[in-house]
Amino acid sequence: MIVKSLELKNYRNYDNLNISFSNGTNILYGENAQGKTNILEAIYLCGTTKSHRGSKDKEIVMFDKEESHVRIILEKNNIMHRIDLHLKMNKAKGVAIDGIPIKRQSELFGMLNLVFFSPEDLYIIKNGPAERRRFLDLELCQLDKIYLNYLSNYNRVLEQRGKLLKQIGFNRNLLDTLYIWDEKLMEYGKKLIETRHNFVFRLNQLVYNIHKRLTGDKEELILQYEPNVTTSDFEIKLKKALERDLSLKITNVGPHRDDLSFLINGIDIRKYGSQGQQRTAALSCKLAEIELVKSLIKEKPILLLDDVLSELDRHRQTQLLNNIGDIQTIITCTGLEEFVGCRFDYDNIFHIVNGTIESENESDRYTEEKFAKEQEEKSSIEQEVKSSTDQGGKSSAEQEDRDNG
Ligand code: ATP
Ligand code: MG
Repeated sequence: MIVKSLELKNYRNYDNLNISFSNGTNILYGENAQGKTNILEAIYLCGTTKSHRGSKDKEIVMFDKEESHVRIILEKNNIMHRIDLHLKMNKAKGVAIDGIPIKRQSELFGMLNLVFFSPEDLYIIKNGPAERRRFLDLELCQLDKIYLNYLSNYNRVLEQRGKLLKQIGFNRNLLDTLYIWDEKLMEYGKKLIETRHNFVFRLNQLVYNIHKRLTGDKEELILQYEPNVTTSDFEIKLKKALERDLSLKITNVGPHRDDLSFLINGIDIRKYGSQGQQRTAALSCKLAEIELVKSLIKEKPILLLDDVLSELDRHRQTQLLNNIGDIQTIITCTGLEEFVGCRFDYDNIFHIVNGTIESENESDRYTEEKFAKEQEEKSSIEQEVKSSTDQGGKSSAEQEDRDNG
């Protein structure tokens, strides 16, 4: 799958943008707040109808404008497709595939498969279980339309059951009808548990080697699905929790309370991981997801990497860039040093300045020559520092000798 081009009108800080991507690696670089992430967000929006930042449509529409338009041309199985989004200030967005408006946004799922890594993905590990459930659900919904169906049914039943629990507080007779929702809750809930279980199992098979490679064999990453209930004890636990459910007026057990743990060399990095470790683990999961998408839907997803190189040490950067493989990738960064430093090949490069593309393919301008010159400068500074500390070392040693003598 390849994103051929993206067109934006009145989208965040872009009044008008038309950008064509190459099939390989595309780099968007520029200073902070110029609009690099906005481009990735727009692509993500075309795949999922949602902003990866959780922004509302009215926040995306350019300040002082009424609406914005996004158009993506993509190639899928050698056929060109067009996705159009029409975002409005106070109305639901319009979505069309190949010019035909779709009725339900879920019809868009599967059209454009993306693996997105953003700085916010750190929160998958750092924050509470809700973030990790969101990760599981988002990934699974992209891969499996049936899961999306189970999930929305489960959430609907959970809401209905909650309403009934409140009503029972006023009218105890209604307790006799609770079993209807319990059965539905278990029916859909068990499907969620099974699917999540299988997903984590498959992800684990892939993530272990990827993470080992990224960390130069230093770290072994294992994911553990921590279901709140299993398919076999759901019923007993739901019954046991009845009094608590009635007094708190919420459902206390079920997959809406699941969690996922991340162990590195046996240590739970949700609590004890360093920032770089957490970031690398989140990244390993995303890279594993690429393989999973490839094997499940027999299609290469598009990889979006937002500001991924910061906080990774040079070794991890190089490993990451060399392990992306043969899929279309769009990377944002603030400088180009990392790429040249890692001897990394790229196909297209865009300099983003204040909502415009200032230049395209200026990779030639950032030549190996310039890189070599920078390296030379760096090493001469290092040399200088070294010789001054050596001298400092010598004189203090001499001083010590004198003191002792
Ligand atoms: P960084 O390197 O810091 O991540 P970036 O290049 O990724 O920066 P973006 O997040 O893509 O930056 O863009 C941020 C810019 O978009 C900001 O200047 C912000 O003011 C602007 N912006 C955000 N929403 C809107 C909007 N609705 N209308 C106009 N401009 C907006
Ligand atoms: Mg950004």
